[in-house]
Amino acid sequence: MIVVMSPSATKAQVTAVRRTVEAHGLQAFVSVGQERTVVGVVGTDVEQVANIGSLDGVEQVIRVTQPYKLASAEHHPERTRVVVGGVPIGQGEELVAIAGPCSVESRQMLLDTARWVRHEGARMLRGGAFKPRTSPYAFQGLGRPALELLAEARAETGLPVVSEVTDAADVELMGSSVDVLQVGSRNMHNFVLLRAVGQSARPVLLKRGFGATIEEWLMAAEYVLSSGNSDVILCERGIRTFETATRNTLDLSAVPLLRRHTHLPIAVDPSHGTGQRDLVAPMALAAAAAGADALLIEVHPDPPNALSDGPQSLSFPEFGALMDELRRLQFVRNGAAAAGDGDQSNIALIDSAVHSSIDLAFRTPAPSLNLLVMCSIVSFKAAPNVSSTPSSRIATAGKLAVRRALRVRSIASMGVTSGRSRLLY
Ligand code: PEP
Ligand code: MN
Repeated sequence: MIVVMSPSATKAQVTAVRRTVEAHGLQAFVSVGQERTVVGVVGTDVEQVANIGSLDGVEQVIRVTQPYKLASAEHHPERTRVVVGGVPIGQGEELVAIAGPCSVESRQMLLDTARWVRHEGARMLRGGAFKPRTSPYAFQGLGRPALELLAEARAETGLPVVSEVTDAADVELMGSSVDVLQVGSRNMHNFVLLRAVGQSARPVLLKRGFGATIEEWLMAAEYVLSSGNSDVILCERGIRTFETATRNTLDLSAVPLLRRHTHLPIAVDPSHGTGQRDLVAPMALAAAAAGADALLIEVHPDPPNALSDGPQSLSFPEFGALMDELRRLQFVRNGAAAAGDGDQSNIALIDSAVHSSIDLAFRTPAPSLNLLVMCSIVSFKAAPNVSSTPSSRIATAGKLAVRRALRVRSIASMGVTSGRSRLLY
């Protein structure tokens, strides 16, 4: 912490600051400049003198460390991996899709949705039992019976279940029925609830308060962590801004920012973040590209007739299409990661593989992505010099070949033709 004295501060005022610091067992380093004096405060808990700004002669107090400790990347450089019913989220893992209805409405709709999202590749099921609605007249969720239905859906599909807990008194009950306790946006500042979920053995999905800064959000995570629960997943779900065209403003810059400041896994909820079905897929893809570890997506068998959040819920086919897009993106992302290893020595090999794969793929009138990928791999394996190349290089080069082929395909779709390959669309 740095205490900046005002230019008119007296020696006595500087001394008072130094003594206050030292009285708390901290060290004070006084540096006298031409115009003003600054006092550096050093110690394990500088927050003890958080109010030092109110002393006479102090102009500004600058924090150089974060007020959150357990959530901070500074104290925990390795990213955390939270494992939910065998599904890992975070550190180096594949993107996890958590999908399901806003609210559990009936047995049939929940089971249908659970089966569908699992079929499409979701790894976890969401479903609200207790709904924190803005209006007391709106559907409040089925409550306990919904927990039984969620347990049934989990037993049938094997998908771990995420559901919101709205009351500290329900934490035990929820903890025995669901795999992840969700703390909703409206409860991010409910410190009693945060401490209660902090004492649970269940992982916690902590949504960002719609009026909360990233620091406040991480301080809320600190409540859970400091209560003994180290399995916290943060979930960006949009904040309230002056914009009214969307339900919330999804703050995707929070994703890379959080990756800088915290080790905790990061989820993004584009459903509540936008409030509009047609915006969900683009923002889900953007979140994945920005580095999210998980996505929380509302899916409903009949969105127009949903009891809550129909306008932002994806239909079954819409969810399937999004999962396809996410797999494509993941593929490119993995290729990009492989390309990052600086291995440039196989360029000629890659070029030959890329060109033959593109030629092959584009000889077909409407090449699908899968065909293109297959062609890349097949022609890569057939390329000259492969047998004398170490297998790790072949893997890297193969991924690069596919990545470059994908890029050419997207250029091709813009109507550009390349010298060697006549591109058909
Ligand atoms: C939800 O996920 O169902 C929900 C109510 O979200 P939020 O707390 O982000 O509004
Ligand atoms: Mn909802």
